[in-house]
Parts: sequence; C-alpha cells; structure tokens
Amino acid sequence: MWQPRSLEDSATMSVETPSATENKNIHAWDDGGAASAAALTAWVGARLAAHENALARLLAVQGERTPENSLSLYDEAIEQLNLAGAQAGILNSVAEDKGVRDQAQLEAQRVSVAGSALSLNREVYEALVAINVEKASPATKHYLERTLLSYRLAGVDKDQPTRDRLQTLHEKATRLSLEFSRNIQEGGKTIQATADELEGLPADYLARHPFDADGNVVISTDPPDMQPVMTFAANSSLRERMFLAYNTRAYPANRQVLLDLLATRQEIASILGFRSWADLATADQMMQSAANVRTFLEKLNEASRDGAKHEHKLVLDFARERHGNLKEIDITSRGYWYEQFRRAAFDFDSQSVRPYFPYAQVEAGVLKTAAQLFKVEFRRSQATAWHRSVSVFDVFEGGVHVGRFYLDMHPREGKDKWFSAAPVVTGVRGRVIPEAALICNFPGGDEEPVLLTPQQLETLSGEPEHIPQQQHELEARAAEAERRASQQTPRDPGLLQYSDVVTFFHEFGHLMHAILGGHTEWVGLSGFATEGDFIEVPSQMLEEFFRDEKLLQSFAKHYETGEVLPSETIKKMKHAGSFGRADWVRSQLYYTTLSLDLHDQDPTKLDLDEITKRLYQSLQPWTWADGNRMYASFGHLTGYSSNYYTYAFDKVIALDFFGQFDPKDLLGCEAGARYRKTVIEQGGSKPGRQLVRDFLGRDEEFSAFSKWLNEEFEEQVVAGVR
Ligand SMILES: [Zn+2]
Repeated sequence: MWQPRSLEDSATMSVETPSATENKNIHAWDDGGAASAAALTAWVGARLAAHENALARLLAVQGERTPENSLSLYDEAIEQLNLAGAQAGILNSVAEDKGVRDQAQLEAQRVSVAGSALSLNREVYEALVAINVEKASPATKHYLERTLLSYRLAGVDKDQPTRDRLQTLHEKATRLSLEFSRNIQEGGKTIQATADELEGLPADYLARHPFDADGNVVISTDPPDMQPVMTFAANSSLRERMFLAYNTRAYPANRQVLLDLLATRQEIASILGFRSWADLATADQMMQSAANVRTFLEKLNEASRDGAKHEHKLVLDFARERHGNLKEIDITSRGYWYEQFRRAAFDFDSQSVRPYFPYAQVEAGVLKTAAQLFKVEFRRSQATAWHRSVSVFDVFEGGVHVGRFYLDMHPREGKDKWFSAAPVVTGVRGRVIPEAALICNFPGGDEEPVLLTPQQLETLSGEPEHIPQQQHELEARAAEAERRASQQTPRDPGLLQYSDVVTFFHEFGHLMHAILGGHTEWVGLSGFATEGDFIEVPSQMLEEFFRDEKLLQSFAKHYETGEVLPSETIKKMKHAGSFGRADWVRSQLYYTTLSLDLHDQDPTKLDLDEITKRLYQSLQPWTWADGNRMYASFGHLTGYSSNYYTYAFDKVIALDFFGQFDPKDLLGCEAGARYRKTVIEQGGSKPGRQLVRDFLGRDEEFSAFSKWLNEEFEEQVVAGVR
C-alpha cells in the first residue's frame, strides 16, 4: 500500500528544532491539559492571569500613548485570550476523556466571559482612543479603527448598569451557544438496519458494520456512517429513518436553547439601538446590514431559480421512469436519486472513484498541491498533540520554520463529528509561529483494522448490482474471520468519496490562511482576523483546484493496482459533479435565509417548526419530511448566527478569484504568488473589501459565479438524458 514517503523521509532529515516549542506554555496539552481537567483549568487560568496582567500594564502607561507603549499591551492581552480560547475550544471538541471535554467547555465559557468583559471595559477603550497613530502603519491604523468600532458596537459608551446588563447577556449567550453545540456533539444516535435494507451500500461499508446475533447492523449518525446511507441505500425506509435520526440529534433539548439564545441576542441588539441582531451582527462585516444581505439573497435566488427547476425536473422524471407510482421526491431521498441520476446520465458511479482516493494518498496530494501553490514545504514533526492519532507537520519556507499544523482527521468516540479548521496558536511576525488544526471525520485511520476481501473490493467499482443479503453477510463474516485469523491485518484504507476530497481541500484552504496569514504586525490582525464574511474565501478558492485533471492525477491512484484515475473518468466525474449546482445554491439559500430570518424578527413570536418548514417549501422543490427538526442541529447558528450568507457570498468572491488563475498552469502561474501576497498573507491587516480590490483590481462580480452555476447546461452534458 502506498505511503506518503516523501513526507516521512523529509521528517527524518529534519534537524532543526522548531522555535515554536521554545515558547513556554503555548500548548495546553504540554501541561497535561488534554488528559486532566485540573491541569487544563490551571493552564487556562495562567493565560487569563497573563491577560489581566497585560491590561493592568496598559492602564498604567504614563504620558503620550503610542502603538508601541499601548497597542502592544492590548495586543498581548488579546494574544493570551486567543490562546486560551482556541485550545479550550479544541479540547472541547476532541479530548478523549469526557471529564476533560466538559471542563474544556467551562473553560471556553470562562475565556468568552473575559472577552466580553474586555469589550465593555471603558478604561481600556479610553486608553485605546488616546493612542496617537499619526505615524503608524496602515495596518496599525486599521487595527485600532476596527477595535474601536467593535467597542462601540459592544456598548462601551453606555452607562454602568447598562454595561452590566450587556455583560450578563453576553455571558448568557455564550453559555447557550456552548450548550447548543455540545447537545449536537453528544446527541449522536444510532439506527438498526436489517440485512435486506443494506442494498446499494459499498462493500467496505458493510465490512465495517458486522451483523449482530439477530442479523441486524447498527448504523450511527456520524457523517462517515450517515452519508453513504443517504447517498447509496436503495431502501427508502432506511434513508428516512437515518434522515430523521440525523436531524433530531439534539431535539428536543436544543429547541428551547435556541429560542433562549435568539431572545438573548435580540435583547443585546435592542439595548445597542439596533432593530435586530442581524443588523448588529452585519454592522462590522463586509455586508454592513441585514438589508444588504437580503439584496444579495435576491440575486442568488434569481441566478439559481431556472437552473434548479431544470435539475429537479430531470431527476424527478428519471425517478418516475424507474418507480412508476412515484409522485414526488422527498428531502430524505434527494441524495439517493441524485446519485442514481448521475450514474445513468453521466455513466458515473461515485463509488467507482473511491478506490483512487484512499485517505493517506489524498492527504499527501492535498499537502503537495498546497506546498506547490504557496511555495512552502511540509515536514512531519515529532511534536506532541492532544491525542496519539493526530499527525503534526511543520511548515518551512526557504529553510525557515513558519508554521505548524495538526491533522486530527478521523472519528473517535466523543469527538466532534464535523469538519473544521481552527487556530491553535495565533501567530505574529517575528515572535510567535502560527499553528492551526484540522478537526475532521474522514473514514480510515481506524484503530481497529478492517480487512477487505478481494470479492468485496470488486464490488466497489462498476454498476451496482443487487447482491443477495446472504452474500453480504457471507462477505462480512469472511472478512471478520480472516481479520481475526491474521496477525498482520491492514488498516482500513479509508476510501473517500470525491466530495470528501473537496472538503479536504476546503479545510486546508482555511489552514493555509491561518499559517501564511499568521505573520502580521499584530496578533489581532493574524490569520482568520478578517471580517467574518470574508473567511470562507480562501477555503472555497482552494476547493476549485480539485477540478484540475493534472493535479488530481498526481495523487488519485488506485490503492491496490496503482492505476492513475483515468482522464475519461475524471471528465465524467466533473460532469456529474457540476450537475446539481443550482440546487446546491438553493439549499445554501435556504440555510442562509433561515439563519437571517431567525435573527431578524421578534424571537418571542417565533415558531421554529413553522418557519423551517415554510422556508424550505418556498425555496426547495423536494417534499418536506415531517419530524425534521434540522434547526436543533444547525450548528452554524452559534458561530455564524445571522451570517450564514458568508458561504454563498464568499463563493461568489472565490470563483472570481479562481478565474484569475491560468487553467493550464494552476500551480505555476503568476496569480498564485499574487494571491498569496495580496490576500492570504494579509490576514486581517486590511478590510476585506480592500483585499478583493487588491487582488482583482476591482470589486467582485457575479459573472464567474453565474458561469460556474450554468456550466452543466452550457456544456450540454445533460442534453438528451432520460
Ligand atoms: Zn469553511
């Protein structure tokens, strides 16, 4: 089996001691914080003490205030807060021990409380107002301006009782947000399936799900378990059970938590003189107001309406032809029929490419792409992380250590079930080396190895055929028996779906933003410190690289035979992948409108079930499924609140950006270096609007997005398909 040799090799050649490890106390786990709740509390406590200490020194400054004597101390306070918040957040998602995860949640809350206290601290605000920035750099001026704006938006100029009330409300909102997330994280469910309900599921999936004594298998709502059911399972009852289990993970608990959170946010907005939370939450964003978001959503609506209708009709007609009495396709069957349609229309079975995407190869491929694009080098590091299964890499540029990242890529008991990138240590030029992490749940990396028989592997490619249940059972049992008999069983190769590979590119885009944007003048401008509604640009930009054939073939090789993914298959995969884009935009429109509407009206009059269903029916052609409580597990409502529009808005920008690259030489063309310099390296040193103009030479336009949206029809790849 293929291994990422070059990376392993370079690690053994590496002799430098990464300077990041010389910085004391920057990792909670080095002080025992990943294994002991008490150690974590002590570590966070020390960070918060250092934070307070920096603020005290800031207030004690005598004479004229300058960036050097005052902003630097404010930035030091932010640095400690970032450090504590980032790592408490990570350990809340990934710590092995439930006691540590629980404590990490409390610690994250404690950090957040300190953050909101800082945002309402009038003495600090006045100290910052007094700073003379006449001779300062544009980045410093921008930092100060933005910080003062956030102070005013927080209500620092209100009287003491009002500020006390705001502080109480912020603390309440933080507590409710964490509770909402934790309920989702720990609300995982399982369903049971009988052998004959498993038709259509891949063989390696079946091998991972052995039958119990009663002949049933247990399937969880974790994405690697859930997604194949929604995409491949031919049995509609199984899909429906899985859909409802998945969309009620945190129901009913999160229903009231969400209502309370929305009410708390609305009260904060009202105190601050805003009509709604959505207006407050967009005031310091690129978008600036809820009204501007609505204008943007109207454009999205226009751009996607006809295409989505067309797609829906094609899929529905196709399904009706195969199921005579089928009247409509409901939300629980949409993924399945899409897959069936794609197979027929494009002669493409998404399972057929999975053997070309074993996890380890994809990892190496994504790393290689990023290394070439950004002209850096990744070397495996021996540094410790929070869990033994995490791989650590150091980033070098011209022999200089410029960053470190952690890949925690596979599911574990109790671990957060989604895919995300997170800062670990916020970097700053010349002093702190940036570190970031990916927390994902890709298949593979099992500690319990699974063996696939050659027969099982065969069924991974080609058209799906009906396998009698006994054979399923037989194969699964044979695999199990062989696994037990063999002393050296191979690990699960972790065959990814191509959408997983796109996700990997996406998250890696975030990671590079944190690392390469982590060398700014101030900690408060580092990496992700752009406006929140710019943050999905670098990630969605990198996603587009997946479309490049040459690049794909550099790593997509059959994990057994080594055969390169054939060009013909890639063409089909791309055609199949571009089908459904308008429908995808409509689902983004749905999530976005929901996120906005929940935060743009009186929360006491909200009926969550009514609004989610009504919006769905007005924006989606698929039939609603009763019992769907998706709002209870819509995790982005905590972080993005009203601003889920970020994904769609940034997609428009990302596609315009990607249009600057030479399609014949994506990794070598001049746009790569220019993109890195004008966008990625800037972190939050400039307003997002300026970053767009610096790279494009103008504001973003809808044209690249519309072209991308209609590619499937323009190329007439679906013409004549029935
Ligand atoms: Zn993202």
